[in-house]
Amino acid sequence: MLLPTIVAAWLAAPAGWDAQSTLQWLGRLAGIAGFVLMLVAASVSIRIPGLDQPFGGLTELWQVHRWLGTGAFLLLLAHPLLLALSAAAVSPAAAAEVLSPPATHRAAWFGWAALVAMMVFLAPTFSFFGAPRYQLWKRLHALSALAVLLGFAHTLLLNRALPAWAWWALGALAFASIAYRLVWRKLHPGARYTITAVTPLADRVVELALERPRGQRMRFDAGQFVYLAPLDPALTAGRRQEHPYTICSAPADPQLRIAIKALGDATAALQHVRPGTDVLVDGPYGRFFEPGEQDRELWVGGGIGITPFVGRARAIGLAGAPVDIDLVYCSNDASRAYYLDELVAIAERVPGFRVWPHYFRDEGPLDAAWIAQRCEDVSARRLYACGPAPLLRETRIIRAALAIPRRRYHSEEFSFL
Ligand SMILES: Cc1cc2nc3c(=O)[nH]c(=O)nc-3n(C[C@H](O)[C@H](O)[C@H](O)COP(=O)(O)OP(=O)(O)OC[C@H]3O[C@@H](n4cnc5c(N)ncnc54)[C@H](O)[C@@H]3O)c2cc1C
Repeated sequence: MLLPTIVAAWLAAPAGWDAQSTLQWLGRLAGIAGFVLMLVAASVSIRIPGLDQPFGGLTELWQVHRWLGTGAFLLLLAHPLLLALSAAAVSPAAAAEVLSPPATHRAAWFGWAALVAMMVFLAPTFSFFGAPRYQLWKRLHALSALAVLLGFAHTLLLNRALPAWAWWALGALAFASIAYRLVWRKLHPGARYTITAVTPLADRVVELALERPRGQRMRFDAGQFVYLAPLDPALTAGRRQEHPYTICSAPADPQLRIAIKALGDATAALQHVRPGTDVLVDGPYGRFFEPGEQDRELWVGGGIGITPFVGRARAIGLAGAPVDIDLVYCSNDASRAYYLDELVAIAERVPGFRVWPHYFRDEGPLDAAWIAQRCEDVSARRLYACGPAPLLRETRIIRAALAIPRRRYHSEEFSFL
């Protein structure tokens, strides 16, 4: 990523370092570096099971994508401005021509069109118009493919720095990733599973049991998630619309289990999905629990954020081997602690697995003192937290108060935006 930019910087270096030449050089460099970042951002926007693991999971991979995209956007915004400033040293008319080139200047207009397309699809990401509606954000984000294509045309027509083959090489990964997302994924949206049971757990929460009629079962680690798209024609919303859900069954469980809380239209509709209908499942993704040797652990799960812990606890229950884990199960009150009975039953069977229910209505927000009273040597533990944003904020404060090092703190929020 850096190399093409450095090479370009050297190839595009001006003869002299007067203000006009330096601004022009910076303008070109911003354009080249910005477009290189954009191509790399497009390359890492690919979603293939397993490919996210080297990044620490899909959430982390998309965080990298977001940083690259933001960097590209800022550099590509600076690109025409710096070139216009450089031209202003010649004359205001020259600067105006950079900002508003003649209609015949196709290459420049490709550049402007690419930048405008970027502004449109990034506006929701930067919450320009408030919190974005996910499905709208997703549809607008598809415009990124157009922005890359227009940017490519602009770069190939204008670039005097890197040779065309270098741009094609950089572009190849980006185009492959875009083609995979916009074509291959549409043709192969996921493996077909049948819903064998829909179990109401509490008001507006159901657990689906899924079985794969043909083919092998999905191999996954506890705490991972999948994309699920229901096919039930009777659904009032979200049919064929994929949403991420954590697997809450044990990896050895013959059925894949997913617990869904009604949050918006798709999840509300899924409360009434019919057993016997099919869903498409793509995954697994994510890496919530650190792989390898099990540590002394402290788990804090709140609301539907209990699902990764249920999956792991079920695996621990099946294995039966002693562990050293404290689970703090946070819910508003007992009626919302819909997995408590099962988790307590596992704790009664497995030595070293302890469950501590915490009810917000009775005890207020969770804090470090509450945990320290119940969990031994808490600062020596690895802390995992999953739940709504306010609870995760609490757990970050608790981590610091309990002197648990940052590297032993892992959290997952059920939102990518
Ligand atoms: C890694 C991960 C694991 C999750 N695990 C579970 C789980 O086990 N059980 C559960 O009930 N929920 C889980 N969720 C949340 C679930 O995906 C959302 O509640 C669901 O997508 C909401 O869709 P909706 O149409 O009902 O609501 P909307 O009103 O459309 O959205 C409500 C919220 O969900 C987010 N959202 C909507 N669609 C998506 C999407 N396709 N991808 C990511 N976020 C989206 C929106 O940003 C918004 O914040 C998880 C989310 C993530 C990111």
